[in-house]
Amino acid sequence: MIHSHPSSRSFNQVCIDSSALRENFSKMQQRVGRDIRIMAMVKADAYGHGMVQTAARFAEAGCDCFGVAEIEEGVELRSTGIQGQIFVLLGFQPSQEQLFFDYNLTPVVFTYEAMDLLSQAAVRNGKEMAVHLKVDCGMGRLGIMPAELQNFLSQLENFPGISLAGIMSHFPLADDAQSTHTLAMYQQYKEVCMQSSQQAPVLCHIANSGAALYFPTTCCDMVRLGISLYGYYPDGTKGTQQAREEKLVPAMSFTTQVVQIKTVPEATGISYGHTFVTEKKTKVAVLPVGYADGFLRSLSNRGQVLIKGRRARIIGRICMNLCMADISEIPGVEPGDPVVILGSQGAETITADEIAEWMETISYEVLCLFGNNNNRNYK
Ligand SMILES: *Cc1c(COP(=O)(O)O)cnc(C)c1O
Repeated sequence: MIHSHPSSRSFNQVCIDSSALRENFSKMQQRVGRDIRIMAMVKADAYGHGMVQTAARFAEAGCDCFGVAEIEEGVELRSTGIQGQIFVLLGFQPSQEQLFFDYNLTPVVFTYEAMDLLSQAAVRNGKEMAVHLKVDCGMGRLGIMPAELQNFLSQLENFPGISLAGIMSHFPLADDAQSTHTLAMYQQYKEVCMQSSQQAPVLCHIANSGAALYFPTTCCDMVRLGISLYGYYPDGTKGTQQAREEKLVPAMSFTTQVVQIKTVPEATGISYGHTFVTEKKTKVAVLPVGYADGFLRSLSNRGQVLIKGRRARIIGRICMNLCMADISEIPGVEPGDPVVILGSQGAETITADEIAEWMETISYEVLCLFGNNNNRNYK
């Protein structure tokens, strides 16, 4: 992933379009409205786009709030000089509580243990710590159950130095614009927010990209956006096709190069297991990219790449660092020619949604795989 000498650059390069990141942020800000704050989700190295660089691009577009999974990410982000609020969503381990004070990070809490550790640290530091409480209103994942809320609120006074600044929850089905679940769950969330703001007002946030796009009435005070800021719709190609007005712009592309070309006769087995056997004389491009680079083995005999602006099928098993494409119908290909795995070449485009369909997954996973396993460049 890291090249120590400038000329030792890998064949495989992920390119991030900085203006697409800024543009997507502005489009989503316009869409949800100026008075609703956006927490840019930059967890998982900003879905493979690079946390530090990406957060800086969002900040240029006016972003003042960021979400990461672990405290380690929050510390790194703050250390690079990012201003604004940084939320740590997954909690922390005992002895890490001091880092929230040292790096001015906002904890999301869901246990009394965390409240206790933060409270002790707040007293030690002589500083108030504002926390956001996660409530599980229907995701079936992180957070206290709504039934525990009253007890939690009544315990607050036992944790000196802690103030409850926000209540958050998360939607499991907001990418499905037809589902009635989201609005039903939102009703319960509103109850929870009302109960929680009896003493002092709290900031409410529950909407992800799907909710912000398809259930705008659930945006509350703040939305937590991930995939939309990277240029994709949470419901894949369907969402992209049905998107009205200004479409979001994918920010990531991924390219490799041809390292060898050869013509093999009919009945030649290609790659491990000979899962592909040629039916006729076939021209093959050997590509120096494989599952170690996030071009997963499940794309064997299914994936496609772009060479000379045309689609070429992946034939045979994808290896750790190699795979083969059938270029019989594409004249004039030479070693060193650029190959697009994700992105556009000529009039053709391969999106993360298309790759996700071949892999039976979602664009999120494709972006993480490519971005977090290869060199990244920014333009
Ligand atoms: C990742 C995440 C989001 C963002 O989801 P997208 O579908 O990418 O917009 C929002 N909230 C929480 C709690 C998350 O973990």
